[in-house]
Amino acid sequence: MAGKRYSRQRELIYNAVVGSKEHPTAEMVYQWLKPTNPNLSLGTVYRNLSLLAQEGILIRMPFPVERYDGDVRPHSHFRCKGCEKVFDLELEQDPIIDAAAAKAAPGFRVEGHDLTFTGLCPECGKRDEGKK
Ligand SMILES: [Zn+2]
Ligand SMILES: [Zn+2]
Repeated sequence: MAGKRYSRQRELIYNAVVGSKEHPTAEMVYQWLKPTNPNLSLGTVYRNLSLLAQEGILIRMPFPVERYDGDVRPHSHFRCKGCEKVFDLELEQDPIIDAAAAKAAPGFRVEGHDLTFTGLCPECGKRDEGKK
């Protein structure tokens, strides 16, 4: 039955994102799953990721290329400008930022924030030092 296969693929796609710390793009998930799931199409991966994000089971991250995060807690990220990898930052929620946002947006109920920092990861930083 088509419905059953659909949900099995969905589970595969979900597990691939949750089992990774890489905040993968749809393309990455597709490349990971393709060898063991030759019937899987890139379109199916896109569609399922999008549905999972709509349901709040995954987080869609609006980077230049969309990425997905299996960790739905509010948390911050670091995006490397060199290799474009995305890392989790265990940064405590700062009430000062929420208070500033609440002040800047009267009438809005601020419940948290996720910040994205950019720069170079340790590896790319080292490579960059080497160039100088
Ligand atoms: Zn890097
Ligand atoms: Zn994350």
